[in-house]
Amino acid sequence: MANATQAKVALITGAARGIGLATAHLMVNDGWKVALLDRDADALKSAAAEFDGKALDLLFDVSDPQAAPQAIRACLDHFGRLDALVNNAGVADFGPIEETDFARWRRVMETNLDGVFLMTQAATEALKDSAGAIVNIASISGLRASTLRVAYGTSKAAVIHLTKQQAAELGEYGIRANAVCPGPVRTKLAMAVHTQDIIDAYHDAIPLNRYGSEQEIGEVIAFLCSEKASYVTGQIIASDGGFESTGVGLP
Ligand code: NAD
Repeated sequence: MANATQAKVALITGAARGIGLATAHLMVNDGWKVALLDRDADALKSAAAEFDGKALDLLFDVSDPQAAPQAIRACLDHFGRLDALVNNAGVADFGPIEETDFARWRRVMETNLDGVFLMTQAATEALKDSAGAIVNIASISGLRASTLRVAYGTSKAAVIHLTKQQAAELGEYGIRANAVCPGPVRTKLAMAVHTQDIIDAYHDAIPLNRYGSEQEIGEVIAFLCSEKASYVTGQIIASDGGFESTGVGLP
């Protein structure tokens, strides 16, 4: 059993920028220690530098089946424990069925879905010791279909199911699992595919009439990792300015 007096440790994937990096800062401010995992070496190095040597940087690709056990081992060797796994690494793809060849489909699935499965499987023993938490970053694209994101939306819908599966299977060990479904946030991932037409359509369709910030999503993730959410598991929580509640089609 992990020592209750020590600082808790979170491993956050895709933590070199965007929502993952913002979440890492919020959790450190809340007293957590963090391991930042990413496959982008330069971005990871500069992200780690923001934590004055107190964060562990893990250069791994979550879609590599060999990576997850090595990353979890490195985290445990360094910090001695793992209390939260944030499966945040993701890639975007806007393509309808007829334009999505199999290579494109697999590229999305390997990171967005396989990566979550592999990291969770590798982390389960350590999370049993801490009665820890898993937070998976899905998307509102996993809750509703649109006409142009077959691979991305399907990968995120599968992550939503995987979250419920994790909660059902791992609850007996005190492990909680929840998913956050962000609405649009102006990160590199989103801005690579959001045209001006899509940006305008989102502003119109979202009750709060704006994109969210990385911090607004990170606050929800940090809450779900924390003891404040000790009786919350198996939940799919949209942080999307109310978009999901409107029933308006995804731009
Ligand atoms: P981002 O591109 O800013 O950050 C993603 C990070 O993940 C990058 O640092 C990237 O190098 C890393 N990454 C990608 N594939 C990886 C892999 N295979 N192994 C290790 N690292 C990998 O994007 P973001 O917007 O911060 O996205 C974070 C999560 O939020 C993603 O899962 C994304 O699908 C989800 N999301 C984002 C939005 C949005 O509008 N930004 C909306 C809904 C959901």
